[in-house]
Amino acid sequence: MNAQLDSGIATRSVTRQTFDDVLVPTYAPAAMVPVRASGLDLWDQEGKQYLDFTSGIAVTSLGHAHPEVNEALTKQLNTLWHLGNGYTNEPVLRLASALTEATFAERAFFCNSGAEANEAALKLARKYAHTKFGPHKSRIVSCLASFHGRTLFTVSVGGQSKYTEGFEPLPPELSHIPYNDIEAARAAITDDVAAVIVEPIQGEGGVIPGNPDYLKALRELCDQTGALLIFDEVQSGMGRTGTLFAYEQMNVKPDVLTSAKALGNGYPIGAMLTTTEIAKHLGVGSHGTTYGGNPLATTVALKVLEIINQPAFLARVKEANVAIMTNLLQLAADFPQVFGQPRGMGLLLGLPMAETSKGRSKDFTKIAEKMGLMLLIAGPDVVRLAPALIVSDAQIAEANRIMRAAVAEFLADAIDEPAAPRKEAPVPAPDAA
Ligand SMILES: *Cc1c(COP(=O)(O)O)cnc(C)c1O
Repeated sequence: MNAQLDSGIATRSVTRQTFDDVLVPTYAPAAMVPVRASGLDLWDQEGKQYLDFTSGIAVTSLGHAHPEVNEALTKQLNTLWHLGNGYTNEPVLRLASALTEATFAERAFFCNSGAEANEAALKLARKYAHTKFGPHKSRIVSCLASFHGRTLFTVSVGGQSKYTEGFEPLPPELSHIPYNDIEAARAAITDDVAAVIVEPIQGEGGVIPGNPDYLKALRELCDQTGALLIFDEVQSGMGRTGTLFAYEQMNVKPDVLTSAKALGNGYPIGAMLTTTEIAKHLGVGSHGTTYGGNPLATTVALKVLEIINQPAFLARVKEANVAIMTNLLQLAADFPQVFGQPRGMGLLLGLPMAETSKGRSKDFTKIAEKMGLMLLIAGPDVVRLAPALIVSDAQIAEANRIMRAAVAEFLADAIDEPAAPRKEAPVPAPDAA
């Protein structure tokens, strides 16, 4: 780095190339650089407009630059930014009251991301088990293809070995079982298990809804063995599936629930929710984080919760689900050589690639992006849609139009270059998708 800084560091010209020059190469971002967004509309450096069906990976659920959220944040940033945990503050007290009123939980802990919320949940489960049953009760059971974050503990608990390779030694006493497999759960959840952590609908793993009978079996096994049941609702929560949290539709109550992503609509915040009885095991000094419960983040989350947790708002998510699902079913029926049967809940939807188009989800989303529609993938074999929950019928129709045009080009590409080796379909990290 040159010692002499450009005098205009805030205004110097930057491009996508700058990323490759000065960022640690953990991501492979798109060629275009977004500069501005409002609702589901987004503009890049060239002034080209896109329809955003990614919500920053299920984060900006109220759309970009939501006026009420902006107003709440602006008011708070002229009032009080930060205190540290030697003091509490009004927004965090209001947010904890609202979240516990809206859920099974009685206690909340705040942090800054999904990984941190899961880290807190797993540490709480260990502490609870060790205090109540003794140090032999320490095993964590999780599911293959699950995703729980990128700290060493949470990435090891996550069920994708490609994300832990090279980071060994990994924390011990972790077991991974196939998702939605009751027999495997029965065999794995023994008396030495401190916690079972599961996504009620697997997001990064391919948008795979949990079977309610499976989640109920996990509840029963946890009750029998004294293990805590942790639901990771970092992606599925905050209205994404049509209820505030997905567990409400599964008729299963967890002991601990984690939230992040849409909780702050893009302002970093994570939360761990639990009961009074369990929470008491994390006493003064046992866990914490500098920014956790910061007035800015909790002000935003409070406004987000206030808007999302309304019957009419959540009913609209289910209505939008029906409209998009109808389109995706038609797309899969018209192009069986490209797509399999769509799946998902609410506005977390997965469109798997057909056998003949395997490994090419990224090829498809790149074409759609060129045509002005931003989509996600969930691994190399699934296109994922996660539009803001405020998506309109007109935007749903526009996304459908672009997806159909993109399929035509996807197929034309395949015919143009029959002998060409299949384009390298990189498997980006889920948080880079
Ligand atoms: C995104 C995600 C995480 C990690 O959240 P970060 O804020 O990236 O740490 C954890 N669990 C699930 C289910 C997620 O989708």
